[in-house]
Amino acid sequence: MVAAEMTPIVKVGGLADVVGALPKSLINLGCEVKIVIPFYGAIDKKKYKINKLCNAQVEINNKKEKISIWSMPLGHGSTEILFIKHDFFASKDVYLGSKVKTGPNDLERFAFFSKAALEAVKIINWQPDVVHCHDWHTALIPVYLKTVYKEDLFFNNTRTLYTIHNLAMQGKANSLIIKYCQLPSVFPTIKDDLLDNEINFMYQGIMNAGLINTVSPTYAKEILTAKQGQYLEKFLKQRKSDLSGILNGIDTDFFNPKTDKFLKNNYNQGSLAGKKNNKKLLQLEVGLPEASNVPVIGIISRFFPQKGIELINDKFAKLDCQFIFLGTGDKSLEKGLKSLAKNYPQKFSVQIKFDAGLAQRIYAGADIFLMPSLFEPCGLGQLIAMRYGTVPVVRTTGGLADTVNQRVGFTFLQFDSNVLYKTLAEALKVYYFKPSTWKRLIQNGMKKDFSWHKSAKEYVKLYTKLTNIK
Ligand code: ADP
Repeated sequence: MVAAEMTPIVKVGGLADVVGALPKSLINLGCEVKIVIPFYGAIDKKKYKINKLCNAQVEINNKKEKISIWSMPLGHGSTEILFIKHDFFASKDVYLGSKVKTGPNDLERFAFFSKAALEAVKIINWQPDVVHCHDWHTALIPVYLKTVYKEDLFFNNTRTLYTIHNLAMQGKANSLIIKYCQLPSVFPTIKDDLLDNEINFMYQGIMNAGLINTVSPTYAKEILTAKQGQYLEKFLKQRKSDLSGILNGIDTDFFNPKTDKFLKNNYNQGSLAGKKNNKKLLQLEVGLPEASNVPVIGIISRFFPQKGIELINDKFAKLDCQFIFLGTGDKSLEKGLKSLAKNYPQKFSVQIKFDAGLAQRIYAGADIFLMPSLFEPCGLGQLIAMRYGTVPVVRTTGGLADTVNQRVGFTFLQFDSNVLYKTLAEALKVYYFKPSTWKRLIQNGMKKDFSWHKSAKEYVKLYTKLTNIK
């Protein structure tokens, strides 16, 4: 498995949760798994007991770059995390974005990392049956295997699965990247891609992987349409028979209100008293009035247009509830939220940061979890919320449509501020006036099985199918 993020080592979003949790279930199903991630500057090698395995070289931009390979065993046979150490990843940030002034940009960094991951398994002499690539960061791996490593017997039986976690982030590079990666410009998908003088990593992954999947059945259908295909629907349609949707699970050991170490009061489905106490502490922590009878609405999200944050405006202060926002992202969205908190300090608390502990306390202390996403490949927040007895209010799209219905929460279809307002007002009415219905929603959500077990089996099916492809 090759990815840019993995919990608990390094996390920006849901990708990390998937790469952190899926391997555990795969191991239980008899797979031998190695996960390759970059050794970012922020990773604490003492804390995670990461040891150096060896040095190696990776050729990029016609230069031989020295890397070192580090390992963290996962306690099951040869299963381990492999870390690629190189100056390109010395920064504490996973993604550099526009921060890059000199040196390689994210496209070059991850193109390099993708090649380094292949070199790493070669040097430790571990032949993968399948390289499972995640998102645009590792989408060039199938291309490398079909070109640079085409004649390399080591990878003769290696197949690729490409998982799309978010089609909106495609990794579009200047055409010079081809020279940088030493890829042949005559290779068919590269030649086609170069017509617009850009190389789209996501497109390359889609066209060259043995099989493709995305992270929910509904999103797998949605991305075939012009509305949600992000201009790649034509190519996804070409590969429709190789495309499937597998719903993400969550790590139910980590996300467990009974044992969660971030909580003062642990609780379970049978006894929700702890949840009430967590709510009080949460209100105190984020500076809202301590009022056990006032419903708390939690939002934990990257603040980007995808997440529907802009639907929430001053009007929402009229609702009889409190809002807690936790997240970072788009500066204009952050600014809008901050002004809500300034204007209505009794109603809105806005926490602009990444804070895993506070996230858990919101999942546990809130009454409602809100995800009004414009699109949502799977979404993990609503799953975690339900596990913590927090009722989801979501827009019916992608994985949200696959996981939330009226038995466990509230849904709305139209991406519209007034429709969201009405849906929240309806949810609050049930909270205030139909406590037994509210309790049933909580119980139904907590009873649902969001473990990886079922979905991991689906992945094993894809891996098996791949190994049968000649
Ligand atoms: P995406 O992958 O699009 O960001 P998901 O809902 O799939 O959205 O996953 C987001 C994950 O990141 C969830 O586990 C959520 O709790 C977590 N998360 C997002 N923002 C923060 C934050 N500011 N602090 C802590 N955790 C966060």
